Amino acid sequence: MGPVCTRACRFCSIPAEKPGPLDSGEPERLARAADKMKLEYVVVTSVTRDDLPDGGAGHFAAVVNALRRRIPGVEVEVLVPDFGGDARSLSTVLEAGPAVLNHNIETVPSLYARVRPGALYERSLELLARAARQGGMPVKSGLMLGLGETDAEVESVLRDLGGAGVDLLTIGQYLKPSPECLDVVDYVAPARFAALERTARGMGFAGVASGPFVRSSFRAAELLRGMK
Ligand code: SF4
Repeated sequence: MGPVCTRACRFCSIPAEKPGPLDSGEPERLARAADKMKLEYVVVTSVTRDDLPDGGAGHFAAVVNALRRRIPGVEVEVLVPDFGGDARSLSTVLEAGPAVLNHNIETVPSLYARVRPGALYERSLELLARAARQGGMPVKSGLMLGLGETDAEVESVLRDLGGAGVDLLTIGQYLKPSPECLDVVDYVAPARFAALERTARGMGFAGVASGPFVRSSFRAAELLRGMK
């Protein structure tokens, strides 16, 4: 959906600019590329497109469908933006039948204004809860540590995600991708990541990947298959 974004998250180096029109050839090209690479599990993500009436939900659905047509049996995980809280946009994506609906909560609520201006903690939580109620597929989320959050805040987010019906969780270390982005406040010890993984599993999450190098798509296929 293009190389620029309508949001300006301060942990991300994607430029915040006015985007161009959607490229209707992208779904087929993406499917062709995945086929050439012999992928069986594809994680698809995008910039945020607040300028589009459906936030790009139809484009996500077109990508899922194009991948399925070209690669029989492929599993597609979609890592979606919040669609401005629009329930119809989320439904459009869910109806395409991805293997996993992923949306990152990213950080604790007290840091949203600084880290994710333009996003709302409650809105992201509601998207996840709606997907869990509606979807018929596992729901996944993730957050970064090292932005100044407290341990109690992180555990509170885990409870919120569990309460929303999230099944799969990734927790990783924030790293500063460009000089303009937020500084790293803490490098969190591997032992803390391991402790959080135990805590999350104790709360009932079916699959958890937690460690300094974990990212949203970290061993995504294995995380899903472990849950199954
Ligand atoms: S919405 Fe996504 S792509 Fe856009 S600035 Fe935030 S993290 Fe980056």
